[in-house]
Amino acid sequence: MIYKGYTGRLLLVDLVARSVTEKEVPEPLARQYIGGVGFAAALMNEMVAVKTDPFVPEAPLFFMAGPLSGTMVPWSGRHCVAALSPLTGIWGEAFAGGTWAAALKRAGIDGLIITGRADGPVILKVADGRARIEDGALLQGMDTWATEAAIKKMYGHACSVSAIGPAGENRVRFASVMSDGPAARAAGRCGLGAVMGSKNLKAIAVTGGRPVEVAHAEQLTRSIRAFLPQMVKTPEHCAAKASRVFTMFVRDGRHGVNNWRDGDLPGFEEAVLQEVGGHALHERPYQCAGCPTGCVESNVDGSGRRLNVWESIAPLGSQCGIADMAVVQKAYDLCNRWGVDSISAGGAISFGMECFAEGLISLQDTDGIELAFGNGPAALAMLEKICLREGFGAVLAEGTRRAAGIIGGGAERFAIEVKGLEAPAHDPRAHNFLALAYATDTRGANHTGAADPGIEGFDLMDMQAVRFAVEGTGSAVARGQNYATVLNSLVLCAFSHAGYAQYYSADGFAGVTARQVVEWLNLATGMEHDFASLMLAGERSYNVKHVINLRQGCAASEDRLHERFTGRMRGCGPAGEHLPPVAAMLEDYYSARGWHADGMLTDARMQELGIAKTGDI
Ligand code: SF4
Repeated sequence: MIYKGYTGRLLLVDLVARSVTEKEVPEPLARQYIGGVGFAAALMNEMVAVKTDPFVPEAPLFFMAGPLSGTMVPWSGRHCVAALSPLTGIWGEAFAGGTWAAALKRAGIDGLIITGRADGPVILKVADGRARIEDGALLQGMDTWATEAAIKKMYGHACSVSAIGPAGENRVRFASVMSDGPAARAAGRCGLGAVMGSKNLKAIAVTGGRPVEVAHAEQLTRSIRAFLPQMVKTPEHCAAKASRVFTMFVRDGRHGVNNWRDGDLPGFEEAVLQEVGGHALHERPYQCAGCPTGCVESNVDGSGRRLNVWESIAPLGSQCGIADMAVVQKAYDLCNRWGVDSISAGGAISFGMECFAEGLISLQDTDGIELAFGNGPAALAMLEKICLREGFGAVLAEGTRRAAGIIGGGAERFAIEVKGLEAPAHDPRAHNFLALAYATDTRGANHTGAADPGIEGFDLMDMQAVRFAVEGTGSAVARGQNYATVLNSLVLCAFSHAGYAQYYSADGFAGVTARQVVEWLNLATGMEHDFASLMLAGERSYNVKHVINLRQGCAASEDRLHERFTGRMRGCGPAGEHLPPVAAMLEDYYSARGWHADGMLTDARMQELGIAKTGDI
């Protein structure tokens, strides 16, 4: 490999043959797909030529770092997990922070490609450029925190652990892959923990001590120093940031209330501000490997346990009619320990609550649990049942789309999802941009799928000024999705370009722009990318994910929002009377993408992007 930053090595793990082989990273793959999610998409497209069930043993599971992971580049301490999603049946990707990506790179590996199904629970142990499949029977049934502790006892405290809990073992369709024990870094979305469970892979433990070589170390260090703002570390500064971010979210009307049915939950704003203010003033920020800034979403208590974040506070709180943050923290702990996505878990429980309110299910169905909006103990009890697939929990463990099919009686009216993925905690009625991004994302309803490169002339839009704009939104979303794919290929944190969310950054810091991203990538690797070639790489990977979805049978008719977001007004807040006109924006979007109206790529677009026609496409 001529490029630095990469180790140049991927490991192919076959859990049936119990073999590990090495694959070199081809240089064109590095140039054209960068790393992370780009590598996973390109390799998936090569390996899976026909429509495939996400749970069959031969379906690949990817764990990928990026060319900047393990280097001094800030916000690079994240990794990508990808596979076909058992929740949606299409492309699935999720990202987690912590120490795991840096450890993998320092073990001399860029990524893992895992196929097959072991005949019993196993641990994949990676160290010094090699991997071994070891017996994991003793870990069966353990939660993710206990799993991490047990593995560290076996392999030493220096290893980083990604693991599934009972929910992944039970193939709950929205099970997560959790890293770093109680610090609970979650690759949450799309049910990739269930894929790990289907392979009988309980955990991946990585130990790495080799430095990651970069092409121009001195220049890279200088560039980073010149760019980073002065850090302000007082608790008062952090508390003010947290208060601004969460006040903005609540007043913008981003949180769902009672399964997105209502607009306001009395006492919610006060409870949220008290909660996050308390984190900032009395608890500890958690910083992923190499992160200089920390963020409002990463705090731990004295025991190292992760504290509530927006994506637990809203889905497990207001969406279920619950404003008691102690209950939400308990639910979040359960999600993290047992390994389920807090967004989909909240979506499933609030869906169940509305079915209960509408009389589609009764106490008999719920094993006596009064699944009413606002009932905290009921939400906690149902969450446990979901993770264990017990009683009605087994229905909700299928995700809201499948659960609605099982319940019948028109329950799909209450299953608030896109392509099968439950909606996250940013109401798409509040911004047309977000609405179109949810409707078209290759994963389904996803709030991190479109990012702003922050370069003059390419800025997506001032979100507040154009929140209800129609013209230009299609092309802006397409561009934003391409740039988010760049960040996820590198793999850089989604907060890297959201300075407002970073605790220690000075007020007014806007975060990283594409200008720095290009410079740091080139200095780290020795490549010669510019903004245009980097955006093209993002667009290429995005289109490959789209091709995979077409092969899985996901038609353009799935590019839609749930009718709750297009047919029912929120009724309060700045977007109280607005419904996003998704259909009107889609034409512009498809045209910006160079797709036909049925979502198929034109031959010309495939050629321009260098995507070969393979398999069923
Ligand atoms: S901003 Fe937050 S999530 Fe992102 S790398 Fe830093 S600590 Fe981790």
